[in-house]
Amino acid sequence: MAYDRNNVFARILRGEITCNKVYEDEHVLAFDDISARAPTHVLVIPKGEYVSLDDFSAKASATELAAFIRALGHVARARGVADTGYRILANVGRDGHQEVPHFHAHVVGGRDLGAMLPRR
Ligand code: AMP
Repeated sequence: MAYDRNNVFARILRGEITCNKVYEDEHVLAFDDISARAPTHVLVIPKGEYVSLDDFSAKASATELAAFIRALGHVARARGVADTGYRILANVGRDGHQEVPHFHAHVVGGRDLGAMLPRR
């Protein structure tokens, strides 16, 4: 799947849409999800043009990969959920119900998040 430069997160990265920034460095931007599902719900995105975790894991440099993982931990500590616990979630593709085609991880916490997935 080709990267769509008009997706909403690309527009946030270009400053065309505002966000509530939580963290930023050379490779990563983190901001509050506009439709929070928990007291803490932050989206962490790479600045590079990667469609999904599949794309990112295959093509990102070791530096970008490391920066992304470090940012996840930084956000959790900055939001005060590191001690109580939290969940990192990345939806990928059709079955994962990924809505925005720019790779992102959700950092959710601040309440008991329940079981990982409903059983079917
Ligand atoms: P996903 O299903 O993993 O692709 O999730 C996309 C997430 O992006 C959803 O949780 C949306 O609430 C969130 N979202 C969409 N537009 C914005 C925006 N402009 N600012 C912040 N979060 C957004």
